[in-house]
Amino acid sequence: MGENSVILKKLRDKFLKIQTLRGIVQLISFIFIYSMIFGVTPIPLLLPVLSSMGAQSKIVGEAFATFQYMLFERTFPWLPLATFLLFAIFLGRAFCGWVCPFGFIQDLMAYVKRRHKEVSLDMHRSFIKIKYLLLGIILFISFTVAISLVASPSAGERYARSLGPFAETPFNVLSPSDTMFAVLPKMFLSLRFAIYEQSFWQIVSGIASFSPLLWIRLIIFFAVMILAAYIPRSWCKYFCPNGALMALLSRFSFLGLKRELTKCTRAECRICVEACPMKVRITELPWEKFNDPECIYCLKCIDACPTKALKPKFP
Ligand code: SF4
Ligand code: SF4
Repeated sequence: MGENSVILKKLRDKFLKIQTLRGIVQLISFIFIYSMIFGVTPIPLLLPVLSSMGAQSKIVGEAFATFQYMLFERTFPWLPLATFLLFAIFLGRAFCGWVCPFGFIQDLMAYVKRRHKEVSLDMHRSFIKIKYLLLGIILFISFTVAISLVASPSAGERYARSLGPFAETPFNVLSPSDTMFAVLPKMFLSLRFAIYEQSFWQIVSGIASFSPLLWIRLIIFFAVMILAAYIPRSWCKYFCPNGALMALLSRFSFLGLKRELTKCTRAECRICVEACPMKVRITELPWEKFNDPECIYCLKCIDACPTKALKPKFP
């Protein structure tokens, strides 16, 4: 092989990977979702991803936030439910891997640390349950608020008042995605004006007077970001209630992966398993087709497999 062909092959191997395409799709999706900054007006579309409820520049809706809000408004959440079901049935959690802005941010954070922390399988299996527990708590709050408001408006309003900001959209009050795309931009904007109009000590006392809820939001956000640098997609794996709902619904999705046994000559090599950010036990799953609830279809396993034994399968 000539020197030029070797260089070409190296360039092709480096850049013609699915991950390059995925990064481009994630970036375009990010720009599309927040394209109001380019003067685009909002469109009536919900997506099963975490964007942010309060972001000014967003043009599409977050299905999970809309789901909670419609329940609070005593309206059957048919539109977000249909969104979740349709996406889950056809594409599983592929939007988590390819479109979700908060997933994209976590993928970028994973580049901060070259060496990532390994979570043992037992701990991983225990931590996974946290997101289902969070989903259960959020659904419990949303449904009990809705039911009590319908059954007895006065008692329901007392119950909602006792929950404070958690009555309307229990998840989004502390969602790190909302903190990133809605709260922090507003904070930076007011800080920018404060720098010109106020003294240093006035700004410091302004920061010190943040509400406890805001401090909790900020702590959660920075903890999630730091964790994402050490453990790729840790929020998606262990905490995201939207991901948990999609995982429950996408067990029988049309989209899946298959592993060709004739090509997977070294099942014990486990290169694909080690490449998987979601710790899916690929080699232990049925080879004809698997759609593991944790799989976000990032296709890193396909890029990693040296014998090209893995492929997407639809249906
Ligand atoms: S699990 Fe949650 S944060 Fe992660 S990609 Fe899916 S929706 Fe986004
Ligand atoms: S199994 Fe493959 S496609 Fe699914 S999350 Fe893991 S690496 Fe990504």
